[in-house]
Amino acid sequence: MAAGWNQTSGTFREGPIDENTFWMLFNYVFSDSSAKRTTYKFGLIKSILDNLFNSEGEDCSLFISYENLFGKFSENYWNLVTKYHLKQMLSDGKSEYSKIEQLFMTLIHEEPSFAAIPFTSIPETKRNSIIKQISTECRRNVIGALHRDFQDCLYAFDLKGDGIFLNTYAFNFMLKYKVEIEKLNYYAWAKFLEKINDESVVVKLLEKLELATPQRDNLSVFQQVLYKEFEQYNCFYCRRKLHEIHVDHFIPWSFIKEDKLWNFVLACPACNIRKSNKIPRMEYVKLIQNRNDDLRKLNSAFVQHQFKTYKPNLISDMWRYAQSGGFVLM
Ligand SMILES: [Zn+2]
Repeated sequence: MAAGWNQTSGTFREGPIDENTFWMLFNYVFSDSSAKRTTYKFGLIKSILDNLFNSEGEDCSLFISYENLFGKFSENYWNLVTKYHLKQMLSDGKSEYSKIEQLFMTLIHEEPSFAAIPFTSIPETKRNSIIKQISTECRRNVIGALHRDFQDCLYAFDLKGDGIFLNTYAFNFMLKYKVEIEKLNYYAWAKFLEKINDESVVVKLLEKLELATPQRDNLSVFQQVLYKEFEQYNCFYCRRKLHEIHVDHFIPWSFIKEDKLWNFVLACPACNIRKSNKIPRMEYVKLIQNRNDDLRKLNSAFVQHQFKTYKPNLISDMWRYAQSGGFVLM
C-alpha cells in the first residue's frame, strides 16, 4: 500500500510556501515516483481545480466540502468509465477495476438505461448515494495519500470532517497556474491510461479527459434572475436593448469550469458570438464587479447561495490568470 493511504487527518504547513516548491511538488505527483495503482490522484487534483471557485472563507484557509469535491470527481469518472470505457486501475492480479468502476457497473447492471445518460440526469437519490459511496471510498484511499505526496503544502483534512481546507498559498498558486496544472495533470493521467487500456479506447485520449467535465446547456435559471429579477434589459457589452437573449460566461467556461451567477451576464447574440471563448476587455472587469456589488443585494435565497463563495477580487484575479494562461482579449 502506498504511504499515506491510512492517514485519518493532516494539517498544512504554516508560513509562506514559494512557487518553486509548488512546482516541485506537482511535478513529483505527476511523475512515476509518486505511487499510483489507480488514477484517483489525478482525479482528485482535477476536482480540486474544478472546485477552486466553490471554496468558502478567506485569509488563511479555504474550505471545499467533500460533497462538492466528490460530486465533480464522480461526474468526471462517470464519463470516463461509462462513456469512454477507460479503465482506471492497474490490475493487481485479483481485480481489474477500481472501486469507482465497480460501483458504476453495479448501478448500470441494476438500471441498464443509465448507461446512456449524463451523470447529472441520474435521479437525485441514486446519484447522491453513489457520490456518498465514492466519497467514503476515496476519502479513505486518496485524500491522505495526496496530502502526504504534497508534504503538507496543499490542504489540511480530517476524514471525519466535512471537507478539506486549502492552504491559501496553494489556492493562489493553483488559481494563477490553473491552465498549466490542468494540462500537466491531463498529460500524466493520459500516460497512465495508455499503459492499462487497449489501443481502441485511447484514441483522442486528451480530448476525452477534457470533455469529462461537461458544460451545462440549460442556463435558463441564470437568465431568469438577471433579466426578470435584476432587470438587465440591455446587452452587457454593447448596451443595446436585448431582443434575443444569450447567457454569457464573463470569464470563459473553459477556464472556470463552473456555472456561477456572479460570472454570468446577458448579451445580444452578436456580442456573445464575437466573444466566444475570449475574455472581455479590462474596462468590463470593473463593470462586472460593480454589477456584482448590486446583484448580491437582491433579496433571494438563490442569489445569496450563488454569492457564498464570491470574493471581491475574484473576477480581476481570474481575468489576469486567464490572460496569462493564453486566453485572448475580445
Ligand atoms: Zn451586444
